Amino acid sequence: MDKSSHTYDVVIIGGGIAGCATAIALQKLKPSLQIAIIERNTIHSSATVFRIGETLPPQSSSLLNTLGLWDDFLNCNFIRSYGTAAAWGSATLRHNEYLFSTAGYGWHLDRATFDQFMYLQATRRGITFIEDTTILNSNYTNDQWHLHCNRERKLTARFVVDATGKKAVFASQQHIQKIKDDHLVGIHRFFRINTATTPLGKGTCVETDIHGWWYSATLPNQTLVVSYMTDADIANRFLYKKSIFFNTALENTKYTSQRISNASPLTPIKLVAAHTQRLSSCIGKNWLAVGDALSSYDPISSLGIYKALHSSIYASYAIIDHFKGDSIGLQKYKQLHQLLFDNYLQKRHAYYKEEQRFVEAPFWKRRQFDQTTISNHKKTLIHEL
Ligand SMILES: Cc1cc2nc3c(=O)[nH]c(=O)nc-3n(C[C@H](O)[C@H](O)[C@H](O)COP(=O)(O)OP(=O)(O)OC[C@H]3O[C@@H](n4cnc5c(N)ncnc54)[C@H](O)[C@@H]3O)c2cc1C
Repeated sequence: MDKSSHTYDVVIIGGGIAGCATAIALQKLKPSLQIAIIERNTIHSSATVFRIGETLPPQSSSLLNTLGLWDDFLNCNFIRSYGTAAAWGSATLRHNEYLFSTAGYGWHLDRATFDQFMYLQATRRGITFIEDTTILNSNYTNDQWHLHCNRERKLTARFVVDATGKKAVFASQQHIQKIKDDHLVGIHRFFRINTATTPLGKGTCVETDIHGWWYSATLPNQTLVVSYMTDADIANRFLYKKSIFFNTALENTKYTSQRISNASPLTPIKLVAAHTQRLSSCIGKNWLAVGDALSSYDPISSLGIYKALHSSIYASYAIIDHFKGDSIGLQKYKQLHQLLFDNYLQKRHAYYKEEQRFVEAPFWKRRQFDQTTISNHKKTLIHEL
């Protein structure tokens, strides 16, 4: 099939978890749909990188089941996870069930393997995957989207899904506003550990300090990820991206430092955006957004992948309704997302309020206010640094 110019029922932009899950969900509901995913990277290059975002909460299993992926997921041999140990609000490490979840066990993934798994599941179901391709611009005429891509590719679609992650590329091209709620960043490094465990055991460990919080998680293949979550201005001020400053801050931690005592770095230190964000509208004329493009959550929730799967399933219902001429589906999708996002904001606020030891420090002070007042305080606090 010539992929350079083709008409599809649905074109999904972004071949991450949300993009693949949306394609799988749509194909399951209506196998006759012509679906393509365009992805800016090559699959080969993605398979070998270390990617942050690796803890899957217990409630994800029912979504993997709904998508028809559960048995194959179990064959990936990811590590079971039974909760989080957290020194949050006090210097004592306490063992919790998942912070935002009901009971049960979750998973620690090798993220590159999981992304590759989603890609393979999508292509196995006959979904066209067009890699090394990105959208340049688009226009809507004659009831169709005309997508102009690099490499002189032109695609036509009855419906477009934006699954491009935090960048929300397609929505941005439609002049939809990305509403940022904070400036959280994650400065992280992967380590090789000598055994499957660490002096502090397996699983996730979270601890706070004056400028933010640390998390570390044991992953498959004797790997440990360590990430410091702080605000972008604080990270810049304390030069946390440089190894010497990151390592010093890490050495000063009470618990996380114990986990790397016999570990050797596998990757350089990397900074990624981790802010909370939503779109001013997540639906439009024959398009919608899923996953992080729809909204992105603070990593303290461990809900990013769950939300990518959840939004993809509900997006597939809305798109099928839309093809049947029922526009209510898209509106319901928007309302559901708004409800879930508000619920997330409330839980996040309550959780940050549990840490009262550093409330005079900007990172924590910024998180003591609820969302209606927080934006008024932000500018002042940045100058207090
Ligand atoms: C520090 C940190 C820690 C986290 N920890 C966790 C955790 O423990 N558990 C959890 O569940 N979540 C976690 N997350 C969140 C999780 O990683 C994301 O929610 C998840 O990756 C979202 O998946 P997605 O498919 O929506 O977006 P992405 O994974 O960002 O995928 C987007 C895809 O779109 C492609 N793309 C982008 N632009 C274009 C374009 N113009 N054209 C074509 N393709 C494009 C990209 O290459 C990518 O493949 C964490 C995030 C951070 C920052």
